[in-house]
Formats: sequence, C-alpha cells, structure tokens
Amino acid sequence: MTDTSQKTPRLVLVTGASRGIGRAAALHLARQGAIVIAVARSKAALEKLDDEIRALGSEAILVPMDLKDTKGIETLGTIIAERFGRLDGFVGNAGILGTIGPIDTCGPRSFEETIAVNLTANFHLIRALAPSLNKAEAPRVVFVSSGVARAPRAFWGPYQAAKAGLEALALAWADENENLKLRVNLFNPGGTRTGMRAEAMPGEDPMTLPSAEDVAAELVKLVSADETRTGALVSYRDVAGV
Ligand code: NDP
Repeated sequence: MTDTSQKTPRLVLVTGASRGIGRAAALHLARQGAIVIAVARSKAALEKLDDEIRALGSEAILVPMDLKDTKGIETLGTIIAERFGRLDGFVGNAGILGTIGPIDTCGPRSFEETIAVNLTANFHLIRALAPSLNKAEAPRVVFVSSGVARAPRAFWGPYQAAKAGLEALALAWADENENLKLRVNLFNPGGTRTGMRAEAMPGEDPMTLPSAEDVAAELVKLVSADETRTGALVSYRDVAGV
C-alpha cells in the first residue's frame, strides 16, 4: 500500500547560499527536510554545500549564477515553474557591502553594483518567482535587510540605500498580497560572524558576535508554513533576546 502520510517537502530558494548566513540557512532548511534551491556565484562552495545537504538526507538544487544576470534570473523562474510548478519559500539573502567611505569618493561602478546585487536582483527575483510562489499552498518570503536601512550612518551610503530600497520593495509586495496566501517579511540579522562583517569591521573580535548558524535558525522560521505575519521586520537580537 502506498504511504500517503509522507508530506511533500517544502521547496525553498536561498540566494547567497555559498557562505555566511545564507549557507547556514540552507543547511537549517535541509535539516528540516526542505529541498533547497541554492543560488550563489561560487560553484565549488555550492558543491560542498550539496555534499553536506546530501549527508543530512535531503536534496539541493545548485544554481551557480551571478545575480546581476537579470536574464539568468528570468530563466531560473521559468525552470522552477516548469519543473516544480510551485515554490514554497524564498530567502532573499545575497548581499554585498560595496564601498565603505564618503559617498563622494565611491566610484559609480561600485555604487551601481551594490544597488544591483542588494536591490535590483531582488526585484527581478520577485518577478521571476511570483508565479511559482502563488501556486504554493503556504508561500513565504523573507528578505535579509540591515539595521542601517532604518538608522543610516556615515560611510555606509550605497549599502544602506540599497537595503532601504529593498525594505520598501518588500513592504509593497507584502501589502499587495495582504489578503492572499503569500507572506513577505524582513529580517535584520544584526552583526553576525561572517566574511561580510569582518570586511565591514576589521578591528572587531568576531567571537563577540552570534554565529551564522544561530542567526539562520531564526531566519528560516520566516519561511515556514507556520509564519502568519506579513510586512514585519524581525530583528535577530529581539527574537533571540541577545
Ligand atoms: P557573506 O559575504 O558571508 O555572504 C554573501 C553571500 O552573497 C555569499 O553567498 C555570496 O556568494 C552571495 N553573493 C554576493 N554577491 C553575489 C552575486 N553577485 N550573485 C550571487 N550571489 C552573490 O555575507 P553575510 O552572510 O554576512 O550576509 C548575508 C546577508 O545578511 C546580506 O544581505 C547582508 O547584507 C546581511 N547582513 C549581514 C550582517 C552581518 O553582520 N554579517 C548584518 C546585517 C545584514 P558568492 O560570492 O559565491 O556569489
């Protein structure tokens, strides 16, 4: 007799899954039985993640791509729709710091790249993934923001402009779907022990910061079917009480 009690695994796409918070989120999701669509540029790092996810008894689909490739994002959306017909979760986590320094010394290419990866890519991902998300029973999305989006400070101009734009975009999408199934939230990890944080704060002792694993454990809750909020900004420090 066929066992019909087996639940269909959730299918969750994570950007920036090659390292840091995104990688830890992908592993948490796999541990929960989800199939993870892992997006990042580094193929070698994604293959290592794949080994670890397989060892956990789950499955990953590797998508080595640059999120500045807008055509590639469109193709990814089409492939997901054709192959799976739905997408249960999307963790928009990939990000870059860009130039830290006075705005008038930031080169235009660096500014444009910071906006492209942190903001524009998420616009294209929304367009490409919405049709599949809308076909899922309990579609959940979270975008990883930063405290500087709402508390801007000197020298972080391009990064915080991109994150503020991302928050505005995400909140509009949440509002547009208020009465539908899709829930869209924001997550502020706060200072977390990753490569990006070390680049931003080279003098800091990383061991004073929460690990990517601890932070990701809270992040992934926002793409579980149990999440009912939408348009919320969840801060790791608030939920973890640190
Ligand atoms: P890391 O630098 O450790 O990881 C960034 C991830 O983004 C990598 O997987 C990287 O993969 C991916 N990425 C970067 N550029 C591209 C690109 N062009 N195309 C595809 N993927 C890309 O950063 P964190 O884990 O620290 O940061 C994760 C998120 O958390 C970011 O959005 C960041 O802004 C946010 N955040 C982090 C904080 C912290 O203290 N760490 C604090 C507040 C917010 P690859 O290089 O292989 O492409």
